[in-house]
Amino acid sequence: MSDTAPLPIPAPRAPLAAPAEAPAPADASAPGRRRLGARDLTLMVAAAVLLVAALVAAAWAGVAFSGGTPVGGGSIGGRAGDSGAAGPVDGAVLAGDGDPSRDQDATGVAGGVVPDGTSAFDVDVPGLAGLDPRLLDALQRAATDASSDGVDVVVNSGWRSAAHQEQLLRDAVAQYGSAREAARWVATPATSAHVSGDAVDIGSWDATDWFSRNGASYDLCQVYENETWHYELRDGASRNGCPPMYRDPTEDPRMRA
Ligand SMILES: [Zn+2]
Repeated sequence: MSDTAPLPIPAPRAPLAAPAEAPAPADASAPGRRRLGARDLTLMVAAAVLLVAALVAAAWAGVAFSGGTPVGGGSIGGRAGDSGAAGPVDGAVLAGDGDPSRDQDATGVAGGVVPDGTSAFDVDVPGLAGLDPRLLDALQRAATDASSDGVDVVVNSGWRSAAHQEQLLRDAVAQYGSAREAARWVATPATSAHVSGDAVDIGSWDATDWFSRNGASYDLCQVYENETWHYELRDGASRNGCPPMYRDPTEDPRMRA
């Protein structure tokens, strides 16, 4: 009888198989089996303890995004559900990119807020340090040549932490009144090219004008018609030109990931 006590512990964790295991106790109480009871009980308790420990460890890994280990889809979703956006919004996919210069929980300058007047060469600013090195290199070459043309390029945003992006999204939902409208302007941490270090927002107006004419020569392309300041690296653009723009981010398949 007492053999049955440990079984209910692991059973609820098993999806649908749990009921099928219910008959087991009947077996255990069959004549001749009882002498194994104490040993079975010990083994089952040990197994249950190990199972619980494994679950706790898995939960911790999911919450802490530790070590850049890919986080399975099943263990994410806890931290981001607060955005109000449809679907899981958690940044876990990109948070695990293993780049130590990208602290996805950081806010403020450490999380990618860029001080006014930051140039493409202020690489100690985390918003620039977190960029894909190839993008940063292209940006610097373009900014150097723009400067020769008398155009100052400032970087208004580059890499952003998931926490920073989440804040931007919350602000946008408040500003535009709905998650749907906010999505036209601000991506989620899971989909933003800024969070992965693959996008820069440049200014001033003169610079965006210069980039619209010359950016492709550096493989730098405007991606969205409604964001004249947002540039990403597009391999081959220097030879073939930039791909057609999306009208806004809602038309970008990456935003539906
Ligand atoms: Zn942008």
